[in-house]
Amino acid sequence: MNLTAPRGTQDILPPWTTAWQWLERKFQESCELYQYQEIRIPTFEHTELFQRGVGASTDVVQKEMYTFEDKAGRSLTLRPEGTAGTVRSYIENGLSSQPSPVKLYYQLTAFRYEKMQKGRYREFHQMGCECIGSAEATADAELISLLSHYFKALGLSEIQLKLNSIGCPKCRPIFRQKLMDYLRPHLAELCEDCKQRFDQNPMRILDCKQARCAEIAEEAPAPLDYLCDDCREHWESLKALLEAANIPYQVDRRIVRGLDYYTRTVFEYVSSHVGTQGTICGGGRYDGLVEEVGGQPTPAVGFAMGVERLLLEAEGQKIELPQPAVPQIFVAAFPETQQQAFMLCAQLRAEGLRAALDICGRSMKAQLKYANRMRADYLLLLGADELAKNCAKIKKMSDGSEVQVHLDELASVLKSLEA
Ligand code: ATP
Ligand code: MG
Repeated sequence: MNLTAPRGTQDILPPWTTAWQWLERKFQESCELYQYQEIRIPTFEHTELFQRGVGASTDVVQKEMYTFEDKAGRSLTLRPEGTAGTVRSYIENGLSSQPSPVKLYYQLTAFRYEKMQKGRYREFHQMGCECIGSAEATADAELISLLSHYFKALGLSEIQLKLNSIGCPKCRPIFRQKLMDYLRPHLAELCEDCKQRFDQNPMRILDCKQARCAEIAEEAPAPLDYLCDDCREHWESLKALLEAANIPYQVDRRIVRGLDYYTRTVFEYVSSHVGTQGTICGGGRYDGLVEEVGGQPTPAVGFAMGVERLLLEAEGQKIELPQPAVPQIFVAAFPETQQQAFMLCAQLRAEGLRAALDICGRSMKAQLKYANRMRADYLLLLGADELAKNCAKIKKMSDGSEVQVHLDELASVLKSLEA
């Protein structure tokens, strides 16, 4: 029997879960400030949603999806990302009748059959935002501003924002032609995937991670050089907004993003700490997606961030990650005072204090050792005497100093001591 976690999955254990909760909470706070509301979508969807919504020629759809047939013979797929499901839900639930744009955020697990590496897993976590219903560059800039706020709230620095525009269905065909003209003589040198991409989606070759393909892409024409007037205006106003807001960015003419649905703005946040898996967050505008998935033509922009990679980055930057909260008081008891200790702890907890007691039948000596290991702030030894006098000493574990308290007043004394 091999009952280990499947390859590419990982258990997230305490004390790490405390750091995770912190990352998630800060993200929720940032979203609230920017007036994004949470959406929760199903873990699996009809396979066709991702084929249409992510794009049939993408690596995600061609190689990375966990697709299965259910007992009724439907083809279902574990979500490889959150955008397609969010857009499906937006259409299905008629969210377009709400004030526009509809601003949604999510925190979800995503599944991709990939080669396991540090920062690359088969089940991973994404936090993302989708702003559906605005074509304005202000919407793109507001999303980037939210991210910039979030990274600051975590105390992170040095994450580079790389920005590009890849045009729209009006200007992209011209660029596509130029790109194919440039690539044709190099066709034999490209990797097998890129040979396929050449006909299906040549822009994706710019994104290939194979060394030779990347070299060839280096000299290739870039979408930025072929933007139509509307796309250029959008691009210029986005840059102007970011500059006005003092948000640094680097134009990266090579970024095209892995998913098919992007138009105009594309961006990535890249770090030096996460190694080769350096992209922490990817996003952009996807003006064609809502229509592609069956809704009215609706412009939209969004991003998704990899939580595992964000944590690697936080560690790399030596950010002090929050630790689990220790007991504020440990009530040690004898067999004859165990019940009172139990009641006392319940009262303290009702007052909002983190109280702890032994629930393993330990001896007094073992309880004291345990309280130490739990790193409790204060220790109270509850004997029959203490109960009779309704009075006990609490000992500060860090320096051994003691304070005499009435048991009735224990909660308020502890609160003032801890403050
Ligand atoms: P990559 O180029 O690293 O494969 P991607 O372009 O496939 O990334 P997106 O689809 O844009 O990634 O997903 C958004 C973010 O989700 C990424 O920037 C990354 O932080 C994270 N991510 C993507 N795939 C994985 C994975 N297999 N394991 C962990 N995090 C991932
Ligand atoms: Mg990928």
